[in-house]
Amino acid sequence: MNYPDLHKQYTEPTISGRYITLDHIEPLLVKYKTDVIGQSVLGKPIYKLQFGNGKTKILMWSQMHGNESTTTKALFDFINLAHSDADLGKKLRSEFTFCLLPMLNPDGAELYTRENANEIDLNRDAQNLSQPESIVLRKTFDEFQPHYCYNLHDQRTIFGVGETGKPATVSFLAPAFNENRDINEVRTKAMNVIVAMNEVLQQFIPNQVGRFDDSFNLNCVGDTFQYLNAPTILFEAGHFPNDYQREITRKYIFIALVSGLQYFYENDIVLNKNEDYVKIPQNKVDFYDFVYKNVKINYDNTEKNINFAIQFKEVLNKGEIAFEAFIAQVDGLENYFGHVEVDAKGETYRDDKNNVPEIDAKADFYLGDRKVINGSIQ
Ligand SMILES: [Zn+2]
Repeated sequence: MNYPDLHKQYTEPTISGRYITLDHIEPLLVKYKTDVIGQSVLGKPIYKLQFGNGKTKILMWSQMHGNESTTTKALFDFINLAHSDADLGKKLRSEFTFCLLPMLNPDGAELYTRENANEIDLNRDAQNLSQPESIVLRKTFDEFQPHYCYNLHDQRTIFGVGETGKPATVSFLAPAFNENRDINEVRTKAMNVIVAMNEVLQQFIPNQVGRFDDSFNLNCVGDTFQYLNAPTILFEAGHFPNDYQREITRKYIFIALVSGLQYFYENDIVLNKNEDYVKIPQNKVDFYDFVYKNVKINYDNTEKNINFAIQFKEVLNKGEIAFEAFIAQVDGLENYFGHVEVDAKGETYRDDKNNVPEIDAKADFYLGDRKVINGSIQ
């Protein structure tokens, strides 16, 4: 199967970029039979899209963290495929029953925040169920009784894959169901699907797939659902070089979704792939957006050479996400990588203040004669 071509064919053209709200997806949802299954804190509808008549029931929810929209885009690409008359579309509908909540946290999506409008992280509310969005998800889970759950997220650009020096473009986790992080039959099922998706993704993004930390926290929805015996898979859409709009990562999430589902009916899922799962390198916080090395500064009338790192902050501005670059770290970068790395070759740093990079300052400065604006050399 040519997965990139398949994605090209079914990409939903009306949604792109990082700012995806109900306003963007409602015109798409009217094409399908949907139900409003609840309301957010601010009274926005939470939609459910259910289709297919297969024996394997899969529950997927996206944007429970409002500013994590990449998997929502990939989900609509997948919905296009799964509703198509192509053989694969028919096959998906006959093998599976899908229950999809494409935007669990519409208030957070609008505000471009991780949390909901009450500033609660819905992915820490699985036990308290203090928020209307959490209750909607749990009710859907209880009624639908899924065989598998897909918990769809984005991760920040700070994550790399193990010791590879590569960004974690996609990460997975089969969450723990107890403190011991034991592996039972339920968790093994989730691991097997992850291994299958990883095998396909390695063909396209070698060494750019990571495994998320499996510390147990029953307040997290994935841990709770795994504990309730529904194999659950956490997806994290991460950084691909220069793809801050995450349109390339979107494609890899789509490929993961499709290849993982094919695995269900092309293989007998009795094999134990735990060892292959553990071989996926763990995620590490070891990236900044920019690392400038070998930069000369003049400090207390002494010249010295330093390295420093710059990180973007994502700011919602007039319906668009602006990436604003700030100095994040000075020296101590031996074990870190930059998505962009610049060797200044001893050129002198200057700025409009003290001519020394200061943490949290805007990343506008000079390197010798070259101007750097918002982290990038002009
Ligand atoms: Zn998240």
